[in-house]
Parts: sequence; C-alpha cells; structure tokens
Amino acid sequence: MSVAREKLKAAKRIVVKVGTSTLAYGASGKLNLYRIEHLIREIADLHNSGKEIIFVSSGAIAAGMEKMGIAKKPETIPENQALAAIGQGVLMHIYEKFFAEYGQTMGQLLLTGEISTNEHARENAQNSLMTLLKMGVIPVINENDAVATEEIRIGDNDNLSAMVASLIDAEILIILSDIEGLYNGNPKIDSAAKLIHEVPKINSEIEKIAGGAGTKLGTGGMFTKIQAAKIATQNGITMLIISGKKIGNLRRALNGEEIGTIFF
Ligand code: GLU
Repeated sequence: MSVAREKLKAAKRIVVKVGTSTLAYGASGKLNLYRIEHLIREIADLHNSGKEIIFVSSGAIAAGMEKMGIAKKPETIPENQALAAIGQGVLMHIYEKFFAEYGQTMGQLLLTGEISTNEHARENAQNSLMTLLKMGVIPVINENDAVATEEIRIGDNDNLSAMVASLIDAEILIILSDIEGLYNGNPKIDSAAKLIHEVPKINSEIEKIAGGAGTKLGTGGMFTKIQAAKIATQNGITMLIISGKKIGNLRRALNGEEIGTIFF
C-alpha cells in the first residue's frame, strides 16, 4: 500500500462529493434509490465509527426534472433555477429519511461562490459548518442554484466540494464519480485507456488528459475534477476520485485499497 493511501485510514474529517450521474439512472434520469440508500448507510456508518463526514450532493436539478416529468435539461438559467428549487427539497426529503433511519441528523447548507470571494460569507459558512460538526450532525451541501447569479456562481460541485474541504480543513476529499478515476485517455471511446492510480503532481500532461467531458445530467467532467484537485492539494488536502457506482467503494478507499485516482 502506498504511503499516501496508508494515510487515508487515519483520516477523521472527510468531505464526500457525489455527482448527479451517480445519483440518477442514466437512461431514465430518475433517482437511483438503491444506490442512494447504500451511500447514506455507508456515510452513517463511517460517522458512527468516529469520522466527521461532510456530504456534498448534486442532483437537485435532476430530482426537479423527475418531479416535473421533464426529460431534457432545459437551456435557460431560470428554468434550471426553478428545477433546482423543486428538486433540492425532494432530495433533502430522501436524505433526511435515510439518515434518520440510521440514527443520524443532517443539516442542509446551500452555498455560493461567495465562500471564496467574500470574507464575511466564508466566515459564516465556516462557523455554521464547524458548529454542525461539533454537534455531531452531518452537513449536506449543494450550491444554491436557485439564486446563484453569474457573479457568485461556482457552477459545479467538484469545485464547491474542494472549497468546502479547504474551508473546514478537511483531510480528505472523495469525489464519487460515474467512472473509476482519471484515465490516460477517454475510456468511453478508447479501450486501451488506463486508470492512473496516483497523481503526486498536477502537471500540464494531467491537465491535457482531463479535457472537458460531462453527461446530459451532471455538469462536471474530469476538467472540473482536476480544478478541484488543484484547490484541494494546494490546501494540503488529499483528493480521491472513485466510482460511486460500486457499493462499498467509499469504505474500500478509506481502508487504503488501491481503487480510483489519488491526488496528493
Ligand atoms: N448543483 C447542481 C445540482 O444540484 C449540480 C452541479 C454539478 O453537477 O456539479 O443539480
């Protein structure tokens, strides 16, 4: 086991980010309740084991689309804002239910880019997060899409999760993605593409590989994940990209198993 992976075992404060394509079925766009329930149970159990987990979840717009019977993500910002407003509640209702089943309390925070540009906003978010952690509550975070206008918009939760991790001095950021990690090519079109297990330094080669992908539901691709990895590692935080599709991966990664890509 590499030294960087070995260190994961002892980590206490961990940010877990899950993307829309992990939370929803690709074909129908509807929420994958089986996967969501297992993920929440895993987070609840990690919390029971003494770790502090901060959960950053996308999926508001997808949940809003499902609720309203809309199959294709709308083009206009107001429509997406409205869907986020609808879906955020739906999503929290599901999380609240599952967390409560496993004896956990969660608290929702909707943030904007102001946590990195406005000192006052940063301090407020920090205070509220730290207090939730002290209370033994699991913070559940998303961007405040319904009000996040151009100037204060982050736009993707990869960057948001890295900002949050920095804000609260987390040790690890784990990004649950729809692929296994960072490949040296595009595994969707190139069968010879190989998974890169360790990235000790983000150089131009890594940035080139990341390109700019994405799915019809989510907004982030590898590109935003590399941006997040930069923010994280610059702040001394180890970041991992692992597949969110395999039940139990979170625990495996935290046990130091060689899955996904680690940036340190
Ligand atoms: N905040 C968006 C949502 O909840 C997702 C952003 C992202 O996919 O990174 O739908």
